[in-house]
This record gives sequence, C-alpha cells and structure tokens, in this order.
Amino acid sequence: MTSGGSLSAGVGSDSAAGTAAGVASVEAPYDVVIIGAGPAGLAAGLNLVRARRRTLMIDSNRPRHSATLRSHGFITRDGVPPLELRRIGREEYEAYPAAEFHMGLVRTVEQLPGADLADATAARFTVSTKGMRGEKNRVVTARTVLIATGLAETLPALPSIRAWYGTNLHSCIGCDGYEEADRALALIGETDDLAEHALLISQWTDDLIVFTNGIAQVSDADEASLAARGIRVDRRPLTDVVGERGAMTGIQVADGEFVARAGGFVRPRYEAAATFVAALTPATDAYGLIVVDPQGRTSVPGLYAAGDTTPPGPEQLLVSAGEGARAAVAINRELLGPLATHPPLNLAARTEVG
Ligand SMILES: Cc1cc2nc3c(=O)[nH]c(=O)nc-3n(C[C@H](O)[C@H](O)[C@H](O)COP(=O)(O)OP(=O)(O)OC[C@H]3O[C@@H](n4cnc5c(N)ncnc54)[C@H](O)[C@@H]3O)c2cc1C
Repeated sequence: MTSGGSLSAGVGSDSAAGTAAGVASVEAPYDVVIIGAGPAGLAAGLNLVRARRRTLMIDSNRPRHSATLRSHGFITRDGVPPLELRRIGREEYEAYPAAEFHMGLVRTVEQLPGADLADATAARFTVSTKGMRGEKNRVVTARTVLIATGLAETLPALPSIRAWYGTNLHSCIGCDGYEEADRALALIGETDDLAEHALLISQWTDDLIVFTNGIAQVSDADEASLAARGIRVDRRPLTDVVGERGAMTGIQVADGEFVARAGGFVRPRYEAAATFVAALTPATDAYGLIVVDPQGRTSVPGLYAAGDTTPPGPEQLLVSAGEGARAAVAINRELLGPLATHPPLNLAARTEVG
C-alpha cells in the first residue's frame, strides 16, 4: 500500500505531534517506522507486515549501490541488478495490508514530548520527512523505529572516480573480486588500512598496485609484507582515473606518469547515513556507526538499527537482509511486552557514546 492509503485514516489534528506548515497530516502511531528500503529495511518490513504490525517504510531512493549493474552473492539472485532486487522486495512488502510506503527523506527522529521510552505500548517517537516525487512532507509517530539507511561514503577526490565506480572500480572486494580476477588492478584509498584490503584483493589477482594518493599511511613492515606477495605501493599524489570507450585504462599520476590498470577497488571513507537521529544520541562506535546488540537494539529503548549502518559488516546485501529480519523479530517481541522480550544489553557501557 502506498502513502495515503486507508491505514493513514483515523488521523486527528489534536495528535501529540502537532501540524507543521506543508505537512500532509498527523496520524495515529505506527507500530514501526522503518527508515530505508534497502535489503535491511525491506527484509524487516516483510517480516513485520506478515506479523500484522502497522508499518510505515520511508525511503529517499538513493541506494549507495545504484551505480552498479549487477550484484553478487545473494542466494537465488546472484548477478541480479540491485535495483531489481529492491523492486521485488518492495512489491513483496506492499502486498500486505499492514504495509505503507512513503517516498521521502527523513529529517528528524525525536522522542515524542512526554513519552516514556520504556513503555512500548504507546507512541514514543516522532519522525518528520521531506516528501519526494510529489509526496507531501509528513510528521508521524511510532512505537518503534528501525534505522536501515546504510552508509554515506566519500571517495578520494579524483575528478572521474565516480564515473568508474560500480563498473570498473568497486568498494566491496568479496562482491566483485571474482569479476575482476586475473587483471591488472589498482587499489586506491586514503585510509590507513590499505594493506589489509590489498591482501584480500590478492586472492583474485597477482598484479596489484596500491595507490595512497600521497595521503594513506602504509607502514614499512606492511609494505615489505605486500612486496613479498608482488604488490607494489605507490605513494604519489594522483590526478585522475582514466579510461576510454566505457573502459578504465589506468591511473594518471600527478608527476605525469600514466600507470595502466584495467580496473580495481577503491576504499571509501564511511559513516552512518543517520544524522537525522542525532537528538536521540544512540551509542556509536569509533567510525560513527550505530552500535546494536544481537537483536538489533540500539542504546535507545525502542530504537533499532540494521544493515550497513551498524558494525561490524561485512557490508553485503544478504548480511543486511539477515540483520533486518532479525531486528524485525525483536521489534515484534518488544511490541508484545516484557514477557516476549530478551533482556537488553548495556551498549552505552561498552562503547563510546556519539
Ligand atoms: C557499488 C557497490 C556495489 C555493491 N555490490 C554488491 C554486491 O555485488 N553484493 C553485495 O552483497 N553487496 C554489494 N554492495 C553492498 C550492498 O549494496 C550493501 O551492503 C547493502 O545495500 C546495504 O543494505 P542496507 O539496507 O543496509 O542499506 P542500503 O541498501 O544502502 O539502503 C539504504 C536506503 O536508505 C535510504 N536512506 C538513506 N538516508 C535516508 C533518509 N534520511 N531518509 C529516508 N531514506 C534514507 C537510501 O535512499 C537507501 O535506499 C555494493 C555496494 C556498492 C556501493
């Protein structure tokens, strides 16, 4: 069911969330608001609407992997275009009466004024959105919220790197190593974990050069260890990634040399795509990812997270879908009350609070 269906009925202007200018309506609380319709959000949504939980899924339709034509490693769907996977997932979710979908960008998730976060029987959160593709802005309330918004990534600032990302340059070694096997490859990155990534890539090729762009640090010991495997570290600043007729041909180094490479990997910098939840201050790890317990619960009661936005990965479709499904079970249990709920872990005591 798309936004504005019969499940939005019963709306009252006297709702606790109030009515803001440009907002479509203020509605009765949802059992669950899921933010993000990637594999994590879709898997959670499917399980929750099958449990007849009144669910609103909100998505801004900007999946990180949209640049790629084929995705790999998802059983029964190896090689499927990632957008096709999302389309099927959304279709399956929306086939159930308890499902609602809203195309929009979530701006804030906040505690409902006066709400007791420990009380799952009542609305605890307000979620406000900027509607997209003709949909109106919305402010809704929810008993539970699941964050499944994936990662925000920053690639090294080379002018053409985005043009090759997802086709000739990849971030997920396990996802695309097989397709790049036995070619002359580059690993480009500015973080200090390139040696580890290079080692993983060496599983598929014995012709690999690591490009630090003059920024990433590779220790002498790591460089020697890579050299023993035939992997060279190039520490020079880069000008661009070069190609012609739709195929990458190499790396242009700032000193003028061109290094021929047929493809490779890039190591982005990542952070959780979840600034909208800052007011609730869920515990995060050193990278800003949202820490969850084995049930997908964050340090904020009633607030869950799943998929790439949580550590420790690996960042893959099937892993995210599994985490979403697991969070759905925990959410459904919490909504049934304490008898069905596993005792929470004290995440804040074990991690940095971000
Ligand atoms: C180029 C590339 C290729 C890849 N290839 C593979 C592969 O072959 N196999 C594999 O297993 N994995 C692959 N991956 C990894 C895979 O795409 C991710 O692990 C997976 O998509 C993560 O799922 P997710 O549900 O956590 O988040 P995502 O799939 O990233 O979905 C997050 C969703 O949240 C939405 N969103 C974000 N912020 C907001 C907001 N404020 N309001 C509303 N919605 C919001 C986004 O629009 C997006 O739709 C690839 C990744 C990339 C970048």
